Amino acid sequence: MDLTVAADRAALDKARDALGPGRIALVPTMGALHEGHRSLMRLAREHADHVVVSVFVNPLQFGPNEDFSRYPRTFDADLRVCEEEGVGVVFAPSAEDMYLPDRQVEVSAGGMGGVVEGAFRPGHFDGVLTVVLKLFNLVRPDVAVFGQKDAQQLALIRRMVADLDVPVSIVGAPTVREPDGLALSSRNRYLSEADRRTALALSRALRAGEARARTAGPAGILDAARAVLEEAARFDPPLLLDYLILADPATFAPVGDDHRGEAILAVAAKVGTTRLIDNVVLTL
Ligand code: AMP
Repeated sequence: MDLTVAADRAALDKARDALGPGRIALVPTMGALHEGHRSLMRLAREHADHVVVSVFVNPLQFGPNEDFSRYPRTFDADLRVCEEEGVGVVFAPSAEDMYLPDRQVEVSAGGMGGVVEGAFRPGHFDGVLTVVLKLFNLVRPDVAVFGQKDAQQLALIRRMVADLDVPVSIVGAPTVREPDGLALSSRNRYLSEADRRTALALSRALRAGEARARTAGPAGILDAARAVLEEAARFDPPLLLDYLILADPATFAPVGDDHRGEAILAVAAKVGTTRLIDNVVLTL
């Protein structure tokens, strides 16, 4: 099957019908596709007969001082990636096609949308959930695949699907990393060589916390990770920490010292002009 590019909803409807019978998996992205996105497409393929990838840099999920205008846009390369991965349809609408000029109604991410990552990016998760629900309604997939790299986003999408009875199954995909540990991200292309050396402290801190999880509780895990981040705060350029948290995977509330079971060790920091996030799932 050849790849069809749909630039608006009418074209999407036509392309969707042309896919023929079988299950459809959706992989929502903001483009600038990398190996992490490819792994989602492959996982999508395992869960469905047809894969639809959306490429849309969603203005609603960027704050006024964030990187919306300079977010990397590499559409021609993205299409080649989708072709190589056997994607059936790429849906790449314009912002004008996605949002009515007089739009009013949005999805609210609730309390869980205002903590951890949401505390640093007010309104971000409302914007994410709004666009994801719209994509679900437009593409009508049987299954949708999201990366664990954006752990709070994945948890909130599961929450939205449960709370609003959205008829789609959500599949989480493991984080793909560079050999040196750096989690792949479209934003990594902003990093200079020196930035990148500092940025490695994020994954190093998570590994230090993970190593401590065998013998220590939440406080010990956080101490081990924090020590790595504090060292990197003295690098040139420095790592500027936004948060380090050991959170309940379902609610993103900080876990208590008596917590047992899964917990997410999550970190966010700025290096130069780039803001990076990463996390690992631990079993306590
Ligand atoms: P984005 O284009 O950054 O909005 O990401 C689109 C999807 O790819 C989201 O579900 C992300 O969680 C996922 N993703 C981003 N980076 C990675 C990675 N390194 N490994 C796995 N999935 C990823």
